[in-house]
Amino acid sequence: MTLTPQPGIMDIALYQGGAAHVPGVADVVKLSSNENPFGPSPHALDAFRQAAGQLHVYPSTSHESLRTAIGEIQGVDPARVICGAGSDEIISFLCYAYAGPGDEVLHTEHGFAMYRISALAAGATPVAAPERDRVTDVDALLAACTDRTRLVFIANPNNPTGTMISNAELARLADGLPEQAMLVLDGAYAEYVDGYDAGKALIDARDNVFMTRTFSKIYGLGGLRVGWGYGPQHIIDTLNRIRGPFNLSGPALKAAEAAMRDVAYTDKCRSENARMRAWLAHKLAELGLPSDTSSANFILVRLADTAQATACDAYLKSKGLIVRPVASYGLPHCLRITMGDETACKRVVNAIAAFIGDLS
Ligand code: PMP
Repeated sequence: MTLTPQPGIMDIALYQGGAAHVPGVADVVKLSSNENPFGPSPHALDAFRQAAGQLHVYPSTSHESLRTAIGEIQGVDPARVICGAGSDEIISFLCYAYAGPGDEVLHTEHGFAMYRISALAAGATPVAAPERDRVTDVDALLAACTDRTRLVFIANPNNPTGTMISNAELARLADGLPEQAMLVLDGAYAEYVDGYDAGKALIDARDNVFMTRTFSKIYGLGGLRVGWGYGPQHIIDTLNRIRGPFNLSGPALKAAEAAMRDVAYTDKCRSENARMRAWLAHKLAELGLPSDTSSANFILVRLADTAQATACDAYLKSKGLIVRPVASYGLPHCLRITMGDETACKRVVNAIAAFIGDLS
Protein backbone atom coordinates (compact mmCIF):
# COMPACT_ATOMS: atom_id res chain seq x y z
CA MET A 1 0.00 0.00 0.00
CA THR A 2 1.35 3.42 -0.90
CA LEU A 3 -0.55 6.28 0.63
CA THR A 4 1.01 9.49 -0.61
CA PRO A 5 0.07 12.94 0.70
CA GLN A 6 -0.57 15.76 -1.74
CA PRO A 7 2.49 17.68 -3.01
CA GLY A 8 3.68 20.27 -0.48
CA ILE A 9 2.23 18.61 2.61
CA MET A 10 5.47 16.90 3.67
CA ASP A 11 7.33 20.23 3.26
CA ILE A 12 5.35 21.65 6.16
CA ALA A 13 7.44 22.08 9.31
CA LEU A 14 5.14 21.62 12.30
CA TYR A 15 4.06 24.86 13.97
CA GLN A 16 5.90 25.42 17.22
CA GLY A 17 3.68 26.94 19.87
CA GLY A 18 5.08 28.82 22.85
CA ALA A 19 6.33 26.59 25.66
CA ALA A 20 4.17 26.48 28.81
CA HIS A 21 6.10 24.43 31.40
CA VAL A 22 9.59 24.20 32.84
CA PRO A 23 10.32 20.79 34.40
CA GLY A 24 11.08 21.19 38.08
CA VAL A 25 10.09 24.87 38.29
CA ALA A 26 6.75 25.63 39.96
CA ASP A 27 6.31 29.41 39.79
CA VAL A 28 6.21 29.80 36.02
CA VAL A 29 5.16 32.88 34.00
CA LYS A 30 4.31 32.18 30.37
CA LEU A 31 5.40 35.03 28.14
CA SER A 32 5.77 32.97 24.98
CA SER A 33 2.43 33.15 23.14
CA ASN A 34 1.37 36.82 23.18
CA GLU A 35 -1.58 36.12 25.46
CA ASN A 36 -3.34 38.78 27.52
CA PRO A 37 -1.95 38.54 31.08
CA PHE A 38 -5.27 39.83 32.46
CA GLY A 39 -7.40 37.22 30.66
CA PRO A 40 -10.76 38.04 29.11
CA SER A 41 -13.39 40.56 30.20
CA PRO A 42 -15.44 39.35 33.21
CA HIS A 43 -18.52 39.71 30.96
CA ALA A 44 -16.99 37.18 28.56
CA LEU A 45 -16.46 34.73 31.41
CA ASP A 46 -20.10 35.19 32.54
CA ALA A 47 -21.35 34.60 29.00
CA PHE A 48 -19.21 31.47 28.73
CA ARG A 49 -20.58 30.08 32.01
CA GLN A 50 -24.15 30.80 30.97
CA ALA A 51 -23.60 29.03 27.65
CA ALA A 52 -22.74 25.85 29.57
CA GLY A 53 -26.48 25.25 29.97
CA GLN A 54 -26.88 24.85 26.21
CA LEU A 55 -24.15 22.36 25.37
CA HIS A 56 -26.60 19.89 23.79
CA VAL A 57 -27.70 22.48 21.20
CA TYR A 58 -25.82 23.00 17.93
CA PRO A 59 -24.39 26.51 17.62
CA SER A 60 -25.45 29.16 15.14
CA THR A 61 -24.15 28.54 11.63
CA SER A 62 -24.47 32.20 10.59
CA HIS A 63 -22.70 33.67 13.65
CA GLU A 64 -25.13 36.54 13.23
CA SER A 65 -25.12 37.76 16.81
CA LEU A 66 -21.31 37.89 16.99
CA ARG A 67 -21.04 39.50 13.54
CA THR A 68 -23.55 42.16 14.60
CA ALA A 69 -21.46 42.99 17.69
CA ILE A 70 -18.30 43.14 15.59
CA GLY A 71 -20.09 45.41 13.11
CA GLU A 72 -21.30 47.79 15.80
CA ILE A 73 -18.06 48.05 17.76
CA GLN A 74 -15.63 48.01 14.84
CA GLY A 75 -17.74 50.10 12.47
CA VAL A 76 -17.82 47.46 9.74
CA ASP A 77 -20.67 45.95 7.72
CA PRO A 78 -21.64 42.70 9.53
CA ALA A 79 -22.68 41.14 6.21
CA ARG A 80 -19.05 41.35 5.16
CA VAL A 81 -17.67 39.63 8.28
CA ILE A 82 -16.77 35.93 8.48
CA CYS A 83 -15.88 34.16 11.75
CA GLY A 84 -13.42 31.32 12.13
CA ALA A 85 -11.76 29.05 14.67
CA GLY A 86 -9.06 31.61 15.31
CA SER A 87 -7.73 33.82 12.56
CA ASP A 88 -5.62 30.77 11.67
CA GLU A 89 -8.75 29.27 10.15
CA ILE A 90 -9.48 32.41 8.13
CA ILE A 91 -5.89 32.34 6.83
CA SER A 92 -6.35 28.73 5.76
CA PHE A 93 -9.74 29.48 4.11
CA LEU A 94 -8.03 32.21 2.07
CA CYS A 95 -5.28 29.85 0.92
CA TYR A 96 -7.66 26.99 0.03
CA ALA A 97 -10.02 29.30 -1.82
CA TYR A 98 -7.52 31.44 -3.70
CA ALA A 99 -4.21 29.56 -4.08
CA GLY A 100 -3.37 26.12 -5.43
CA PRO A 101 -0.64 24.27 -7.32
CA GLY A 102 1.37 26.68 -9.45
CA ASP A 103 0.26 29.73 -7.45
CA GLU A 104 2.44 31.81 -5.15
CA VAL A 105 1.60 33.10 -1.68
CA LEU A 106 3.81 36.02 -0.76
CA HIS A 107 4.73 37.00 2.78
CA THR A 108 7.45 38.98 4.51
CA GLU A 109 10.78 37.51 5.57
CA HIS A 110 9.84 37.27 9.25
CA GLY A 111 6.13 36.85 8.63
CA PHE A 112 3.80 34.74 10.79
CA ALA A 113 4.42 30.98 10.33
CA MET A 114 0.84 30.08 9.36
CA TYR A 115 1.07 31.86 5.98
CA ARG A 116 3.68 29.38 4.79
CA ILE A 117 1.96 26.39 6.41
CA SER A 118 -1.46 27.21 4.95
CA ALA A 119 -0.01 27.95 1.50
CA LEU A 120 1.74 24.56 1.42
CA ALA A 121 -1.38 22.79 2.71
CA ALA A 122 -3.29 24.26 -0.24
CA GLY A 123 -0.61 23.04 -2.68
CA ALA A 124 0.65 26.56 -3.39
CA THR A 125 4.20 27.88 -3.18
CA PRO A 126 5.10 30.24 -0.32
CA VAL A 127 7.50 33.05 -1.27
CA ALA A 128 9.27 35.28 1.27
CA ALA A 129 10.17 38.89 0.46
CA PRO A 130 13.02 40.55 2.37
CA GLU A 131 12.30 43.11 5.09
CA ARG A 132 14.31 46.26 5.73
CA ASP A 133 15.78 46.04 9.24
CA ARG A 134 12.90 43.85 10.42
CA VAL A 135 10.26 46.16 8.91
CA THR A 136 7.90 45.24 6.04
CA ASP A 137 9.42 46.55 2.79
CA VAL A 138 6.72 47.48 0.27
CA ASP A 139 9.20 47.81 -2.60
CA ALA A 140 10.62 44.35 -1.93
CA LEU A 141 7.11 42.87 -1.83
CA LEU A 142 6.15 44.54 -5.10
CA ALA A 143 9.40 43.34 -6.69
CA ALA A 144 8.63 39.78 -5.57
CA CYS A 145 5.19 39.74 -7.23
CA THR A 146 4.79 37.65 -10.37
CA ASP A 147 1.84 36.72 -12.56
CA ARG A 148 1.41 33.71 -10.25
CA THR A 149 1.06 35.71 -7.01
CA ARG A 150 -2.43 35.18 -5.61
CA LEU A 151 -2.18 36.23 -1.95
CA VAL A 152 0.07 38.72 -0.16
CA PHE A 153 0.03 38.41 3.65
CA ILE A 154 1.20 41.30 5.83
CA ALA A 155 0.83 41.25 9.59
CA ASN A 156 0.60 44.87 10.71
CA PRO A 157 1.91 45.04 13.43
CA ASN A 158 4.01 42.01 12.55
CA ASN A 159 4.75 38.97 14.68
CA PRO A 160 7.54 38.37 15.76
CA THR A 161 9.13 41.75 14.97
CA GLY A 162 6.44 44.02 16.51
CA THR A 163 7.04 46.62 13.81
CA MET A 164 4.39 48.13 11.53
CA ILE A 165 4.06 50.28 8.43
CA SER A 166 1.76 53.27 7.78
CA ASN A 167 -1.62 53.26 6.06
CA ALA A 168 -0.01 55.22 3.21
CA GLU A 169 2.49 52.39 2.70
CA LEU A 170 -0.31 49.81 2.83
CA ALA A 171 -2.19 51.76 0.15
CA ARG A 172 0.93 51.92 -2.01
CA LEU A 173 1.22 48.13 -1.70
CA ALA A 174 -2.44 47.56 -2.57
CA ASP A 175 -2.16 49.89 -5.57
CA GLY A 176 0.97 48.19 -6.90
CA LEU A 177 -0.18 44.56 -6.73
CA PRO A 178 -0.89 42.61 -9.91
CA GLU A 179 -4.62 42.39 -10.55
CA GLN A 180 -4.92 38.68 -9.71
CA ALA A 181 -3.43 39.21 -6.22
CA MET A 182 -5.27 39.91 -2.95
CA LEU A 183 -3.67 41.85 -0.10
CA VAL A 184 -4.44 40.28 3.29
CA LEU A 185 -3.85 42.53 6.29
CA ASP A 186 -3.42 40.39 9.39
CA GLY A 187 -4.53 42.58 12.28
CA ALA A 188 -3.98 40.10 15.13
CA TYR A 189 -2.32 42.94 17.08
CA ALA A 190 -4.21 45.89 15.54
CA GLU A 191 -6.15 46.64 18.75
CA TYR A 192 -2.90 47.47 20.53
CA VAL A 193 -2.35 50.45 18.22
CA ASP A 194 -4.25 53.55 19.29
CA GLY A 195 -6.26 54.98 16.39
CA TYR A 196 -5.23 52.36 13.79
CA ASP A 197 -8.17 51.24 11.61
CA ALA A 198 -6.41 47.95 10.72
CA GLY A 199 -6.82 48.82 7.03
CA LYS A 200 -10.63 49.25 7.11
CA ALA A 201 -10.63 52.39 4.94
CA LEU A 202 -8.37 50.68 2.41
CA ILE A 203 -10.68 47.65 2.28
CA ASP A 204 -13.78 49.80 1.82
CA ALA A 205 -12.14 51.65 -1.09
CA ARG A 206 -10.91 48.58 -3.02
CA ASP A 207 -12.05 45.09 -3.94
CA ASN A 208 -8.72 43.26 -3.49
CA VAL A 209 -7.93 43.93 0.18
CA PHE A 210 -9.02 41.76 3.13
CA MET A 211 -8.33 41.79 6.88
CA THR A 212 -8.04 39.02 9.47
CA ARG A 213 -8.55 39.67 13.19
CA THR A 214 -8.53 37.63 16.37
CA PHE A 215 -10.03 37.30 19.84
CA SER A 216 -6.85 35.53 21.03
CA LYS A 217 -4.77 38.61 21.87
CA ILE A 218 -6.25 41.75 23.43
CA TYR A 219 -9.60 40.02 24.08
CA GLY A 220 -7.83 37.29 26.07
CA LEU A 221 -9.68 34.34 24.49
CA GLY A 222 -6.87 32.34 22.87
CA GLY A 223 -8.18 29.15 24.47
CA LEU A 224 -11.58 29.49 22.77
CA ARG A 225 -10.34 29.87 19.17
CA VAL A 226 -12.28 32.75 17.66
CA GLY A 227 -11.13 34.99 14.83
CA TRP A 228 -12.80 36.96 12.08
CA GLY A 229 -12.23 38.38 8.63
CA TYR A 230 -13.63 41.46 6.89
CA GLY A 231 -13.53 42.38 3.26
CA PRO A 232 -15.37 42.71 -0.02
CA GLN A 233 -18.64 40.75 -0.28
CA HIS A 234 -17.34 38.56 -3.11
CA ILE A 235 -14.48 37.27 -0.91
CA ILE A 236 -16.77 36.66 2.10
CA ASP A 237 -19.21 34.73 -0.11
CA THR A 238 -16.34 32.63 -1.46
CA LEU A 239 -14.88 31.80 1.96
CA ASN A 240 -18.29 30.88 3.39
CA ARG A 241 -18.54 28.08 0.82
CA ILE A 242 -15.62 26.23 2.41
CA ARG A 243 -16.36 27.14 6.03
CA GLY A 244 -17.70 24.28 8.14
CA PRO A 245 -21.27 25.13 9.16
CA PHE A 246 -20.53 24.67 12.88
CA ASN A 247 -16.93 25.87 12.95
CA LEU A 248 -17.43 27.86 16.18
CA SER A 249 -18.89 26.44 19.39
CA GLY A 250 -21.81 28.11 21.18
CA PRO A 251 -19.79 29.10 24.27
CA ALA A 252 -17.05 30.56 22.06
CA LEU A 253 -19.57 32.67 20.12
CA LYS A 254 -21.20 34.00 23.31
CA ALA A 255 -17.92 34.79 25.08
CA ALA A 256 -16.47 36.53 22.02
CA GLU A 257 -19.57 38.68 21.64
CA ALA A 258 -19.41 39.79 25.26
CA ALA A 259 -15.68 40.47 24.96
CA MET A 260 -16.18 42.60 21.85
CA ARG A 261 -18.87 44.66 23.57
CA ASP A 262 -16.76 45.36 26.68
CA VAL A 263 -14.96 48.31 25.11
CA ALA A 264 -13.86 49.75 28.47
CA TYR A 265 -12.02 46.53 29.30
CA THR A 266 -10.29 46.47 25.90
CA ASP A 267 -9.23 50.10 26.37
CA LYS A 268 -7.79 49.27 29.79
CA CYS A 269 -5.80 46.35 28.37
CA ARG A 270 -4.48 48.55 25.56
CA SER A 271 -3.26 51.30 27.86
CA GLU A 272 -1.74 48.91 30.38
CA ASN A 273 0.08 47.12 27.56
CA ALA A 274 1.46 50.40 26.23
CA ARG A 275 2.62 51.45 29.70
CA MET A 276 4.45 48.20 30.46
CA ARG A 277 5.86 47.96 26.92
CA ALA A 278 7.46 51.42 27.16
CA TRP A 279 8.85 50.55 30.59
CA LEU A 280 10.26 47.19 29.51
CA ALA A 281 11.86 48.58 26.32
CA HIS A 282 13.47 51.34 28.38
CA LYS A 283 14.82 48.92 30.99
CA LEU A 284 16.19 46.57 28.33
CA ALA A 285 17.89 49.50 26.60
CA GLU A 286 19.47 50.50 29.94
CA LEU A 287 20.89 46.97 30.09
CA GLY A 288 22.37 47.51 26.63
CA LEU A 289 19.81 45.33 24.85
CA PRO A 290 18.19 46.96 21.80
CA SER A 291 14.71 46.32 20.41
CA ASP A 292 12.69 47.83 17.60
CA THR A 293 9.79 50.07 18.58
CA SER A 294 6.97 47.59 19.13
CA SER A 295 3.34 48.30 18.29
CA ALA A 296 2.14 44.95 19.66
CA ASN A 297 1.93 43.15 23.02
CA PHE A 298 5.47 41.85 22.90
CA ILE A 299 9.03 43.07 22.45
CA LEU A 300 11.63 41.45 20.22
CA VAL A 301 14.86 41.97 22.09
CA ARG A 302 18.20 41.56 20.31
CA LEU A 303 21.05 39.81 22.09
CA ALA A 304 24.70 39.95 21.02
CA ASP A 305 24.53 36.68 19.09
CA THR A 306 22.80 33.30 18.91
CA ALA A 307 24.83 31.84 21.78
CA GLN A 308 23.90 34.71 24.11
CA ALA A 309 20.22 34.47 23.14
CA THR A 310 20.21 30.73 23.80
CA ALA A 311 21.96 31.17 27.14
CA CYS A 312 19.62 34.01 28.15
CA ASP A 313 16.57 31.90 27.25
CA ALA A 314 17.89 29.00 29.35
CA TYR A 315 18.64 31.33 32.28
CA LEU A 316 15.15 32.85 32.16
CA LYS A 317 13.62 29.37 32.04
CA SER A 318 15.59 28.35 35.10
CA LYS A 319 13.93 31.31 36.86
CA GLY A 320 10.47 30.23 35.69
CA LEU A 321 10.21 32.83 32.92
CA ILE A 322 9.22 31.36 29.56
CA VAL A 323 9.87 33.66 26.61
CA ARG A 324 9.97 32.76 22.93
CA PRO A 325 13.16 31.93 21.03
CA VAL A 326 12.56 32.86 17.39
CA ALA A 327 15.28 30.96 15.52
CA SER A 328 12.53 29.29 13.45
CA TYR A 329 11.70 32.81 12.18
CA GLY A 330 15.31 33.39 11.11
CA LEU A 331 16.05 35.51 14.20
CA PRO A 332 18.28 33.23 16.31
CA HIS A 333 19.91 36.15 18.19
CA CYS A 334 16.54 37.48 19.37
CA LEU A 335 13.99 36.59 22.05
CA ARG A 336 10.34 37.59 21.87
CA ILE A 337 8.93 38.61 25.24
CA THR A 338 5.16 38.93 25.67
CA MET A 339 4.07 41.76 27.94
CA GLY A 340 3.05 40.32 31.27
CA ASP A 341 1.52 42.21 34.15
CA GLU A 342 3.75 44.59 36.13
CA THR A 343 5.05 41.85 38.44
CA ALA A 344 5.99 39.61 35.52
CA CYS A 345 7.71 42.44 33.63
CA LYS A 346 9.76 43.31 36.73
CA ARG A 347 10.74 39.67 37.15
CA VAL A 348 11.92 39.55 33.52
CA VAL A 349 14.00 42.72 33.88
CA ASN A 350 15.57 41.54 37.14
CA ALA A 351 16.40 38.15 35.65
CA ILE A 352 17.91 39.61 32.47
CA ALA A 353 19.90 42.10 34.56
CA ALA A 354 21.28 39.20 36.60
CA PHE A 355 22.09 37.28 33.43
CA ILE A 356 23.93 40.26 31.91
CA GLY A 357 25.67 40.89 35.24
CA ASP A 358 26.93 37.30 35.30
CA LEU A 359 28.45 37.81 31.84
CA SER A 360 30.59 40.77 32.82
N1 PMP B 1 -1.66 36.24 12.96
C1 PMP B 1 -0.63 36.58 13.72
C2 PMP B 1 0.30 37.64 13.25
C3 PMP B 1 -0.42 35.94 14.96
O1 PMP B 1 0.64 36.26 15.71
C4 PMP B 1 -1.32 34.94 15.39
C5 PMP B 1 -1.17 34.20 16.70
N2 PMP B 1 0.07 33.87 17.07
C6 PMP B 1 -2.38 34.62 14.53
C7 PMP B 1 -2.52 35.29 13.34
C8 PMP B 1 -3.35 33.52 14.83
O2 PMP B 1 -4.09 33.75 15.94
P1 PMP B 1 -5.43 32.96 16.25
O3 PMP B 1 -5.52 31.78 15.31
O4 PMP B 1 -5.33 32.57 17.67
O5 PMP B 1 -6.52 33.94 15.95
